[in-house]
Amino acid sequence: MVDARRSGGTGESVARRRLERLEARLRHLAGRLHEAHRTPHLGNYLDPTDEFVFIVLSRKTAERAYVPAFTSLKQVGSWQRVLDLGERRIESLIYGCGLEGKKATAIVGGLRAIVERFGATDFSRASDLADNELFAFLAGLPEVGPKSARCVMLYSFGRLTFPVDAHVGRVLARLGCMEQIGMNLAPMGHKERQRALEHTIPPDLRHGLHVNLVAHGRAICKATTPACDACILESGCAYARAARLQRRKSGGSR
Ligand code: SF4
Repeated sequence: MVDARRSGGTGESVARRRLERLEARLRHLAGRLHEAHRTPHLGNYLDPTDEFVFIVLSRKTAERAYVPAFTSLKQVGSWQRVLDLGERRIESLIYGCGLEGKKATAIVGGLRAIVERFGATDFSRASDLADNELFAFLAGLPEVGPKSARCVMLYSFGRLTFPVDAHVGRVLARLGCMEQIGMNLAPMGHKERQRALEHTIPPDLRHGLHVNLVAHGRAICKATTPACDACILESGCAYARAARLQRRKSGGSR
């Protein structure tokens, strides 16, 4: 039988220490990322209806196309007026943003669902809902998937959720910090990463860490060409360490 004191502790205490080390590392990471990116505003809206329409318009579309479409709809005056215009008119107002017919249908369908549930296109009253109810309602709106639903919860309702988009998943997978608790994000798909990370990140870190990981993924740790030489996280990054070793093996200088 193994003596727990001599072997370094029981399974439970070892697991607890690993979690504590992971939390310390995540806090350090959150601090470094905040120093680098200053938790920028990523263009999300505080008003949940604005955010819903923005999400629909931005689907599979470049920013230069969906931002003018959003501005056109805002110029109508209110979301109720937009709803009253109907699909055909909305489609022409957002012309140029791609998938106009599908997006107009989704906007009308979503606004109707909001009015049916909350009596108006303004659904700030949804702040009374519990997290799981709010998530179910948002994820049920047209073109709002689970990740976007979490973004609305985070940005418009201030809920401490942790949306894992492509940037967040990629940067955390490359850093390898979850390996401390035996979690390898690298081979995981998007949904699996969301499930794995959702409750692992301490609640008070979720907003800042999400925002700064997105900023880092966009500016530095890009999908095809991560700029490791310019990255403040390079010294503790598993991906950069593996790349260094590979270069040494093949005779490179670093
Ligand atoms: S060192 Fe490279 S791979 Fe690691 S986080 Fe920075 S940019 Fe991404």
